[in-house]
Amino acid sequence: MKINQAEFVISNTDVRLCPAPDRAEYAFIGRSNVGKSSLINMLTNNKNLAKISSKPGKTRLINHFLINKEWYLVDLPGYGYAKVNHNERDRFQKFISRYMKTRENLVNVFVLVDSRHKPQEIDLDFMVWLGEHGVPFSIVFTKLDKLKSTEKKVFVKKYEAEMLKYWEEMPPYFITSSVEGDGKEELLDYIEQINSSVQF
Ligand code: GDP
Repeated sequence: MKINQAEFVISNTDVRLCPAPDRAEYAFIGRSNVGKSSLINMLTNNKNLAKISSKPGKTRLINHFLINKEWYLVDLPGYGYAKVNHNERDRFQKFISRYMKTRENLVNVFVLVDSRHKPQEIDLDFMVWLGEHGVPFSIVFTKLDKLKSTEKKVFVKKYEAEMLKYWEEMPPYFITSSVEGDGKEELLDYIEQINSSVQF
């Protein structure tokens, strides 16, 4: 699939104010600074669609984009930002969990993880939570270009070994670089394949 059109629709913190659930929706989430804005911009061929914020954790909204007039791409706030206080974190968790649990047209959550880091508890816990609530997800490894070629060969195996402590099998995953364009086609083809198999 090629993205020809990407329009911003609405931002909010309340799932009840999200657009009508009349088409497939894909959410992107991960720790602050994981490369989410860069990935969304790469996928949509639009350098400014998701603002690449200089301050981690700045965007705390559910941002809806309509893609090719066919499906929704949702940019969710980055989690695990050390500088937000507990109240703020609780509020954040509430609206994200409500969104995840109630959004009926949410067909997949892309959980972004930085290829350079070993598995982080916050990501693993989040994926377990998704599993417990029956929310389908896949992993998107980001910043592949930052790895040495020797690391490129082993990092997924290492991540998988950790995942298999919690899961029977590795979920679908994509290996991406927003700088070099890796993984773009695979990820968009995956979305296209799901789009063709669901109806709202
Ligand atoms: P977000 O906070 O998750 O939206 O992350 P950003 O997209 O703002 O990226 C955080 C930082 O990582 C920025 O300095 C980006 O330029 C950089 N970055 C993001 N993706 C890549 C990538 O694929 N390769 C490299 N080398 N840098 C990246």
